[in-house]
Amino acid sequence: MNVLLTGQFGAAERGAWADALAQACPGVRWLDDDAARAAPATVRAAVVANPAPGRLQGLPALALIQSLWAGVDRLLADPTLPAGVPIARMVDPMMNAAMAETALWAVLALQRDFFVYARQQRARQWQPHPQRRADETRVTVLGLGEMGRTAAQAIARQGFAVAGWAARERPGRSVPEGVQAVLGDAALAARLPATDVLVNLLPLTPATRGLLSASLFARLPRGAGIVNLARGAHLVEPDLLAALDAGQVGHAVLDVFAHEPLPPDHPYWSHPRVTVLPHVAAATDPRSAAAVVGANLRALAEGGPIAHLVDRRRGY
Ligand code: NAP
Repeated sequence: MNVLLTGQFGAAERGAWADALAQACPGVRWLDDDAARAAPATVRAAVVANPAPGRLQGLPALALIQSLWAGVDRLLADPTLPAGVPIARMVDPMMNAAMAETALWAVLALQRDFFVYARQQRARQWQPHPQRRADETRVTVLGLGEMGRTAAQAIARQGFAVAGWAARERPGRSVPEGVQAVLGDAALAARLPATDVLVNLLPLTPATRGLLSASLFARLPRGAGIVNLARGAHLVEPDLLAALDAGQVGHAVLDVFAHEPLPPDHPYWSHPRVTVLPHVAAATDPRSAAAVVGANLRALAEGGPIAHLVDRRRGY
């Protein structure tokens, strides 16, 4: 089977993917953009990492687009994406585990004032603060999908009072023990005043873009923590800066930004109550993710069910 591998990789990154995919997908002949253009009718599948717009056009036998990234917002934004070709996204338990580690670290650091102590150290200031208990720290995780569910479970196991927000009732949804499911907009609005730490793990869609805005921050208890691990465009930056400066938001941990890399003159870099990470909350690891791709390419070859299909209408 001929499969196109295309996207925005550095040379080393492309090499790591090529090696891992070759091992995990025996029988696949990998084509780069030039090879695919030379024999477009032979391409059955495309394995993609934010491909340049237009790259997937003109491939008449294309039967599967497999994203190497979990979020498909940039892929779906390509107006030339061939209609009707199924899109699968990356769901890798190792990546979910990495995301849960980042989310748990941020929640613990906010609960126990570790960001405050880091700031105090820089000022050579010895100043203990009252110690908060996990079970009296209320955490709301936005998104109860692959990442949100795993993160909510890890945080609940640590003893926090956790709710997870999702869009709708879903038959067979598995909600981790100790996590309260909050479904729909009205239920979120009711939960926000009882949220000490808000962790965002939503996909970026028209419905979720700009959700972390002044009106949401205003519903939180004063001094709440914000942890954005999903997409920069979920958050309205001037609203966050205003809420931080007013004390309405106590501290923000941000892994994702409207413009990445974060520009050197951005106020977040030097804001005392912002912690910046360079989009590392959960990287796709070729060592485990290649097996996920291999399973879907095998399913395609054998006519079996493709896993982790994207609902184009919903955008995730
Ligand atoms: P997923 O499995 O598709 O889960 C999405 C969850 O969000 C679902 O529970 C869904 O609710 C909920 N949701 C979507 N729209 C909603 C709305 N309008 N209102 C309420 N809930 C809504 O996605 P995932 O694998 O967990 O990934 C989540 C996101 O994490 C990705 O899209 C990506 O942007 C981000 N990510 C970031 C990094 C990083 O390193 N920072 C790495 C990987 C992924 P239902 O269950 O009711 O449908």
